[in-house]
Amino acid sequence: MPNPFRNLPSVNQLLESPPLKKLLENVNHNVVVDGVRVFLDDVRDKLNKATENVEIPRAQELAEKIADWLKTERKSLLEPVINGTGIILHTGLGRAPLATAAIDRVSTIAKGYASVEIDLQTGERSQRARALERLIMELTGAEAVAVANNNAAATMLAVSSLAKGKEVIVSRGQLVEIGGSYRLPDVLECSGCRLREIGTTNKTRIEDYEAVINESTGAILRVHPSNFQVVGFTESVELRSLVALGNKHNVPVIDDVGSGALIDFQKYGLSDEPIVRQSVEMGADLVLFSGDKLLGGPQAGIAIGKRSAVAKMLKNPMMRAMRVDKMTLAALQATLEVYQNIETAEQEIPILRMLSMPIDNLKFRANKLVTQLKTLPQITVAEVVSEFSMLGGGSVPTQKIPTYCVALEFGDRSVDSIAKLLREQRPALFGRICKGRFLLDFRTIFPAHDVRLFEMFESVFA
Ligand SMILES: *Cc1c(COP(=O)(O)O)cnc(C)c1O
Repeated sequence: MPNPFRNLPSVNQLLESPPLKKLLENVNHNVVVDGVRVFLDDVRDKLNKATENVEIPRAQELAEKIADWLKTERKSLLEPVINGTGIILHTGLGRAPLATAAIDRVSTIAKGYASVEIDLQTGERSQRARALERLIMELTGAEAVAVANNNAAATMLAVSSLAKGKEVIVSRGQLVEIGGSYRLPDVLECSGCRLREIGTTNKTRIEDYEAVINESTGAILRVHPSNFQVVGFTESVELRSLVALGNKHNVPVIDDVGSGALIDFQKYGLSDEPIVRQSVEMGADLVLFSGDKLLGGPQAGIAIGKRSAVAKMLKNPMMRAMRVDKMTLAALQATLEVYQNIETAEQEIPILRMLSMPIDNLKFRANKLVTQLKTLPQITVAEVVSEFSMLGGGSVPTQKIPTYCVALEFGDRSVDSIAKLLREQRPALFGRICKGRFLLDFRTIFPAHDVRLFEMFESVFA
């Protein structure tokens, strides 16, 4: 049998063909060559697996296919997205959008040199994040602060600094997995600690903690069950009691509160979100939380608490591997400054603005888009529906916030295919697909983007 691959065009032949030559004008040579190789390998693979005679694509046809493929590949860069999913802290979409003040500060600080590790008063070397201390004390009551890349990093640093080689006591009701790659038992193991599980899934009592405390106990860790709920007969131990127990046995208590609510979110209809200040006041040695969840700041893991405990974290060699850069520090500082005035915070922090957006405003905006979309014949159903937005980002999925969505159907065209075309717009538009309909939730769409939505549908159907 003749070798079918002999007839496949060579890489050089393909690069000389018009479609790829044109692409080479604005795409890097290596990227195109690599793309051609990958594509040819794929074709060879298919020919190998084919059971009957298949036609070898002609060079021109192949080159066109490769050029198209490379163009769509190139679209998958980091791009701005209009979030119509209704998931406020969407991890896939970068969690919290930043406040303007934070963005401006990042820009100012990133442009030049900054006092990242220098104290401007003394001119001496200082700790990174020391500049945040006064703000943190004001907002939470804590004495000291350390900032790491995210809360996973802060947790690793905290347990490793306080309890390396020792046991960390955790209730079985709090051994959480968050977002797939974060599993608390693994985090503890990676940090060189031994997990000491106690109690049961639904009930853990103070006696369970006391019973296992011994000379190899390094810390007691309490974890907020952010993304699940145990209902029915449940019992867990209050932080206050854990601190009393820790004090009695000289064991530090770490409280991972997850979201980092600086204010009470009950007024937004979100119950059970622990408030950072309360954990500090109850006497936890360290309180850990994310920067990009309910705080509404940059991705960061913030550890606050007693000066001695924070000092141990800062001395840990892992700190260097997990430290944040000046841009994160700048954004975090500016975000915390916004919180100095709660009324301003509600206006300036995007996620607070979304949460406090009056429902009538959402309905009005949804109606407006529906009126416009009804003029497009390809949209066979367009209506405003009452729905629920979700907090997301590893928060309890039962925390639902009433909202209004635009719900759409597109005749014979599949919802998935239209969703794909909308994702390919710039900025990309994301909605959620529910019962065969495409939904756009106005709670997570910035009002300034409303005017662009209709154009996006127009160009999809053009
Ligand atoms: C979200 C969360 C984490 C992980 O935080 P990241 O900043 O995403 O690393 C850890 N613990 C709890 C309780 C959380 O809710």
